[in-house]
Amino acid sequence: MEQVNLVDHLPIARPLLEELKQCTAKDEVMQEIQAVVMNGWPMRQQDLPSGVIPYFHIRDELSIANGLIFRGERVVIPKSMRQGMIERLHASHLGESSCLKRARECLYWPNMNSEVKNYIQRCDVCRAMGTRQQKEPLKQHEIPERPWAKVGADLFVLDSRDYLVITDYYSNFIEVDYLTTTTSSGVIHKMKAQFARHGIPEEVVTDNGPQFTSDEFAKFGAKWNSSTQLHLHFILRQMGKWKML
Ligand SMILES: [Zn+2]
Repeated sequence: MEQVNLVDHLPIARPLLEELKQCTAKDEVMQEIQAVVMNGWPMRQQDLPSGVIPYFHIRDELSIANGLIFRGERVVIPKSMRQGMIERLHASHLGESSCLKRARECLYWPNMNSEVKNYIQRCDVCRAMGTRQQKEPLKQHEIPERPWAKVGADLFVLDSRDYLVITDYYSNFIEVDYLTTTTSSGVIHKMKAQFARHGIPEEVVTDNGPQFTSDEFAKFGAKWNSSTQLHLHFILRQMGKWKML
């Protein structure tokens, strides 16, 4: 009954989903998996078609919905589309850990991790940009204990309009506000409204944009009892995540 939701929650654009569906229908291994999922798995993996054997160890996590195969909430990608999906994942030339994180959230195929890594290591653009980009250090953020205890804030521009986006680390819930001005006071005004609705965070993570490094913003933080931290990599990671595949 939740199967329709699985598709709705995928951060994958409709046309690409349609293509996935068609390729899944044409792919021999995908069809064999579908048949096994519907009819039941054999006791021993030797009794499977050879293409399905790599999926035996995750057989309990596999399901079918809308003509697609899922491993949990991740969609299984047929072979003909894997290269294209890696290219999409790496379209912004984000580092390896960002791409892998994003891939693991919504995509699956056997050896996906190493194929993504190999692709990025060979990427000419990343190479030309130097090793700094490739060795992007990813600071692990601990998941806070409650919603809205720790949030990330950043600005972005869409169709020449400025927006403030606030992300909750606990739930990944995001709030987007249209900004009439990108000054500290403009940003603070919107933040106050969000914090009034969701609660005051203990920590606000931002990049070092001028809105966030001003005295005014520091005072706001102090007054509202939050410690503001500067952490650029978080923002990079989130940018990768927001963009639809
Ligand atoms: Zn690259």
